[in-house]
Amino acid sequence: MGVRARMQEISPEERKKGFDEVERGLAIHQALAEASRCLFCHDAPCVAGCPAGVDVPGFIRRLKTRNFIGAARLIRDANILAGVCARVCPAEELCEKKCSSTNLSEPIAIAALQRFAADEELRRGIRLPGPGVPTGRKVAVIGSGPAGLACAHELATLGHSVTVYEADEKPGGLLVRGIPRYRLPLAVAEAEVRAVLESSGVEIRSGVCVGRDISADEIRRSSDAVFLSPGLGYQSSLGVPGERLPGVLQAGEVLRKVAAGNDVRFTGRVAVIGGGNVAMDAACSALRCGASEVVVLYRRSLDEMPAWKREYEFAAAEGVKFEFLTAPTRFVEDGGGLAGVECVRTRLGEPDSSGRRRPEMIPGSEHMIEVRTAIVATGQAPWPGLVGLFRGLAAGKAGVIEVDQGSQMTSVEGVFAGGDVTSGGATVVQAVAEGKRAAKAIDAYLKRV
Ligand SMILES: Cc1cc2nc3c(=O)[nH]c(=O)nc-3n(C[C@H](O)[C@H](O)[C@H](O)COP(=O)(O)OP(=O)(O)OC[C@H]3O[C@@H](n4cnc5c(N)ncnc54)[C@H](O)[C@@H]3O)c2cc1C
Repeated sequence: MGVRARMQEISPEERKKGFDEVERGLAIHQALAEASRCLFCHDAPCVAGCPAGVDVPGFIRRLKTRNFIGAARLIRDANILAGVCARVCPAEELCEKKCSSTNLSEPIAIAALQRFAADEELRRGIRLPGPGVPTGRKVAVIGSGPAGLACAHELATLGHSVTVYEADEKPGGLLVRGIPRYRLPLAVAEAEVRAVLESSGVEIRSGVCVGRDISADEIRRSSDAVFLSPGLGYQSSLGVPGERLPGVLQAGEVLRKVAAGNDVRFTGRVAVIGGGNVAMDAACSALRCGASEVVVLYRRSLDEMPAWKREYEFAAAEGVKFEFLTAPTRFVEDGGGLAGVECVRTRLGEPDSSGRRRPEMIPGSEHMIEVRTAIVATGQAPWPGLVGLFRGLAAGKAGVIEVDQGSQMTSVEGVFAGGDVTSGGATVVQAVAEGKRAAKAIDAYLKRV
């Protein structure tokens, strides 16, 4: 047993029965004791480990003196989605990885402390900086996920008039329509999204899809700059026969329905194809939706699997099975339903362009995995039509929008972009950081033109 404060967790057996949040927050005595372990390093390597640049020693110092709301406000100065990120950030790869205490004992539980502070404020009402002195300049933000929200809020505090266009009826992007509830309760996501929109006074036009309900030209004509943050809306296909059979589902769609609270039910065995975080979420969600067994099929080995270690361990603890070095070649029908997935075994060859060893099919290793449902979770990409909306918009590999790393400006003058559409899929905190960076660059651009 280590010295670090640990949140209580529901046991794997219990938690897979529903979508209740798995981790319970720290108790006050735990938070105070954990805050006392911080060394308050003057060079604070943890801050450099946070893409949003949260003043970690600063907020922990306030916690230590029981100034909980002050701690939360300091976090929100850098990251408007403090409670969300405290729950979903891979902190062990970010701030906590850089923590100086790591070499002495165990890293400070920074995410758990951030959650404690953010939840205290959530209970009393979130207060964020309001709109700045009006500049008379207008900015359009496309997409209300974390990148769009962070950009819109920052621009509003700088005095710009912001309109956010959101295709869905509800703002929030993947915070409300993707990340599973057992990790991020809807109430927390909605409260933080609401606080951002209400405090900043930005105009939100929900249910308006740019390119369908309003043209990009119209948006450009009515604004001085544009921030593009539509995320990834396009599911890449596996390219094997039978992908359109009933019973073969896309992970993004399944997770969207589950997150929206729709009654998704599975019977029998379910296969999930892919090895990323979305595959792990699809597998754990399928278990909660009634699957008798879930097996993840991945064409490389555990060492190459892109899912975070903690996501893999979380799924494995719930009893999700893994078939590594296994690649689907065909979905097989059975009287209208799915009978199974035909697969081959693979072995790993030389590294490919991704740097990971290429899976090679082993002849004669064909075999059938019997399942009633298959969920394809092999990656998402930006909607290909996006490039056509803005003339001259440059896209790179897999359609991700190319930007200048310093300013987030695209190849089109006055059009900036950030979040998953430029990274190809990363984290909430990175999307927030890019949204803020773009807002500062847009502000500088508007002062220039
Ligand atoms: C299942 C799942 C689990 C995840 N879990 C984690 C996690 O635990 N931790 C973590 O840090 N990250 C996680 N992520 C990643 C994280 O959610 C994303 O990196 C982040 O949401 C990206 O933010 P964004 O603003 O770029 O895009 P999004 O959150 O995707 O928001 C984009 C918004 O733009 C809207 N939009 C799209 N096209 C248009 C248009 N033409 N007109 C108007 N609006 C449009 C969409 O409706 C959407 O609301 C997860 C992702 C998924 C899919």
